[in-house]
Amino acid sequence: MKAAWIGVDVGGTSIKLGAITPAGERLGEAQMHLPDEPVAQQVMADLASAIKTLMAEANCTALGIGAGLPGLLDRQAGLVQHSPNLLWLQQCDLRAQLAASLGIDPARILIENDANVAAMGEQWLGAAQGERNVLTVTLGTGIGGGLILGNELFLCEGQAGEIGHLTVDPEGPACGCGSRGCLETMASASATERRARALGLTDDLPELCRLARLAAGPERELLAAVGRDLGHGLASVVCLLDVRCFVIAGGFSAAFDLLESGIRRGLTEWCYGERVAAIRLLRATLGSSAGWIGAARLLAPPHPPTPPVSP
Ligand SMILES: [Zn+2]
Repeated sequence: MKAAWIGVDVGGTSIKLGAITPAGERLGEAQMHLPDEPVAQQVMADLASAIKTLMAEANCTALGIGAGLPGLLDRQAGLVQHSPNLLWLQQCDLRAQLAASLGIDPARILIENDANVAAMGEQWLGAAQGERNVLTVTLGTGIGGGLILGNELFLCEGQAGEIGHLTVDPEGPACGCGSRGCLETMASASATERRARALGLTDDLPELCRLARLAAGPERELLAAVGRDLGHGLASVVCLLDVRCFVIAGGFSAAFDLLESGIRRGLTEWCYGERVAAIRLLRATLGSSAGWIGAARLLAPPHPPTPPVSP
């Protein structure tokens, strides 16, 4: 029986989970769909039994659990302080409930922001393997970011890496954060849908991409413009931190081939020096598994190993 880290990735409509050894061998994964109106206690009970099933099927013991959660977190307490889109999570004492149900030491249950664990996953086993300094940008309804500096997740006071709220256009659209012209109002999937509608184009992104690949035209121009705005956001990161590797992740990374030249143009316009040519733009490779894999990686040392728990 192998000893594994259990990774959990909580999303809006489902929870993905998996078991992986510290050496990176995937032993199994599963997905649990959430009801329309989740109740925290029930979700945690279901998650605990899903973890038990996973461990039994993967024939492994648990060295601990890492969980990626959307929103602002109190990492010490293991709680979500604020998650505007998943209110049920705010009432959820994930660590205490999983510890009690599974008999795992609460100290071995770690939480981290969902964009950050996706970045950790891509840097551990995905597109950015071997890169010591990398920003993973998750393009979805919003834009999330996870920053790895010197091989470590960089949190600063806790919320570093939030590239979605860098201002790229001070006159741009109002953002949910209260600011204006944030990158996520210009280059997220939902921003691209809005921009497509404003141009009289289809706001169905797979169809928009299909048309853009088919022939030069307004669809291709729009995606190049979205990429360029994204490049402007990345340029600010380059100027501040000299990061030279970026992973584009999330559902909208399916348009990577159409965004890439625009991103490079934006970088070239807003970065100075010769380094633009050395900047690596990579499409994420772990897909929707990046979150749970990176969450499992939270258990990596310096956290001391403890005796494993059997299913
Ligand atoms: Zn914002």
